[in-house]
Amino acid sequence: MEIRNIAIIAHVDHGKTTLVDQLLQQSGTFRENQHVVERAMDSNDLERERGITILAKCTSVVWNNVRINIIDTPGHADFGGEVERILSMVDGAVVLVDAAEGALPQTKFVVGKALNRGLRPIVVVNKVDRSDSRADEVHNEIFDLFAAMGANDEQLDFPMLYASGRQGWADYTIENHKEDLSALFDLIVKHVPAPTVNLDAPFAMVASILEYDNFLGRILTGRVEQGTARVNMPVRVLQHDGKIIETGRLTKLLAFRGLERVPVEEVQAGDIVAVAGLSNTTVSETIASPEITDPLHATPIDPPTLSMT
Ligand code: GDP
Repeated sequence: MEIRNIAIIAHVDHGKTTLVDQLLQQSGTFRENQHVVERAMDSNDLERERGITILAKCTSVVWNNVRINIIDTPGHADFGGEVERILSMVDGAVVLVDAAEGALPQTKFVVGKALNRGLRPIVVVNKVDRSDSRADEVHNEIFDLFAAMGANDEQLDFPMLYASGRQGWADYTIENHKEDLSALFDLIVKHVPAPTVNLDAPFAMVASILEYDNFLGRILTGRVEQGTARVNMPVRVLQHDGKIIETGRLTKLLAFRGLERVPVEEVQAGDIVAVAGLSNTTVSETIASPEITDPLHATPIDPPTLSMT
């Protein structure tokens, strides 16, 4: 299956959760008799209580046979390079902006990083159903923001959709808009490049996110850069300098399907996976088949991720 990996960048309250819920529903990721029980991007309160920072959430939908992985980005700050590591898994971004509030300075940081990485964002001016919507002004504000953040000509030529996530539509026009999100789905598939990966090479991925689970222990999430991850495959973990941190087995593979993480037997290059079974590995390290001797290029980090909220 073809894959697109995108980050979604939005200020709190600009409608990210509502829009992603609609993407899930309209892509038929839920069967008809199911409904969205948990809201897509809401943080896991339990994990928060335990003081564990979960800064990234991944939602995965399938549209016309293309899997679209949507990774949430922390809206306003950076914790030990988390934003860079999240952006390192994606080839595109959707910048979602409230049509009344406009582009708020808090999203600048992440937008700047995304532009810096060469991503060509799709802009969605959301909540255009608001009576105080000023969609066209906001369009100009976003252009100015991108320009101020050093966007190149291609990035400044961003495609833009108007949307009401609440009403479940996005289109190039507000009047006579279609009553669905097909324009957004199609634009993501068309505008965001497929990940460039090598399916035939031995397995390798860079750990981008670290979480803990009471049962599974360390969970490392990243994009499979080459080859295929298989349950129980032996791996070793390499630091930037090539030093081996540990050897072990991938005891569990969790793929992102809809809102859930689903245990799977294998995950191919290009897709995003969470792996368990390693006990010393941390972010930015390369998890790979034992025959791999060089680490993949990773986004450097440190200081360690701090817990907040
Ligand atoms: P998030 O914080 O970005 O995830 O935002 P939410 O999806 O939770 O939405 C924040 C608030 O905006 C909620 O009260 C939503 O009902 C409201 N909202 C979301 N989408 C729309 C929209 O398209 N139009 C309007 N008018 N309100 C919306």
